[in-house]
Amino acid sequence: MVSGFLVGAACAVFAAAAAAQETWPVHDPNRPQPPVVTPGPAGPPAAPPSDAVVLFDGRDLSAWQGEKGGPARWKVENGYVEVAAKTGSIKTARGFGDCQLHVEWMAPDPPSGEGQGRGNSGVFLMDTYEVQVLDCYGNQTYADGMTAAIYGQHPPLVNACRKPGEWQTFDIVFRRPRFDKNGKLESPARMTVFHNGILVHDAAELTGPTAHKARPPYAAHADRLPISLQDHGNPTRFRAIWLRELE
Ligand code: MG
Repeated sequence: MVSGFLVGAACAVFAAAAAAQETWPVHDPNRPQPPVVTPGPAGPPAAPPSDAVVLFDGRDLSAWQGEKGGPARWKVENGYVEVAAKTGSIKTARGFGDCQLHVEWMAPDPPSGEGQGRGNSGVFLMDTYEVQVLDCYGNQTYADGMTAAIYGQHPPLVNACRKPGEWQTFDIVFRRPRFDKNGKLESPARMTVFHNGILVHDAAELTGPTAHKARPPYAAHADRLPISLQDHGNPTRFRAIWLRELE
């Protein structure tokens, strides 16, 4: 006879292992859609705290470069920067590891496109780990690729989208992965994310780099790498980008 205690212990071990992995296949269309929560109204750009590294204050892209180096070629006007389609993603000249990152963004209005084609961009920590920027206000896509998803891995806890044409905020607490001297993973990356002030990830563990239709394993990398913003061909706007280093 197998004791109830042993069965319970085995179940607990299984549950912990399942939680640490990711049980849904990547981009599974059957994965449940998070509930919609209406955030409060958008405010003015958040002023950076005194110890912040300001990455974009609405005036210039001096802290940024193109994805292959050279100047960042997105369009700066009226206190924001807009993705210039086909010029490529942009990345910070400096690298960062653990940080608290604030980013404001606006999806194009009027909206155009469907699913992943509507207001797609992204905020990449360490040029590797994407928090999805997408217009999911009345626009559905696979849950692990919707607005504020940790792309291909974790849907947000709720859909906290504002309408296209309204400013939205991400506040991301990022803990980078740790690798030992042989490049073996010691601890995975973790993210806590607020979308429009609403918790959407609570210390979520990443399975590795984010990717399309894949969940690649970790590959050892430097302790500091650039923050990057994605050119996915849609004219998404950004403003008020700053971070606090937590190393
Ligand atoms: Mg994206």
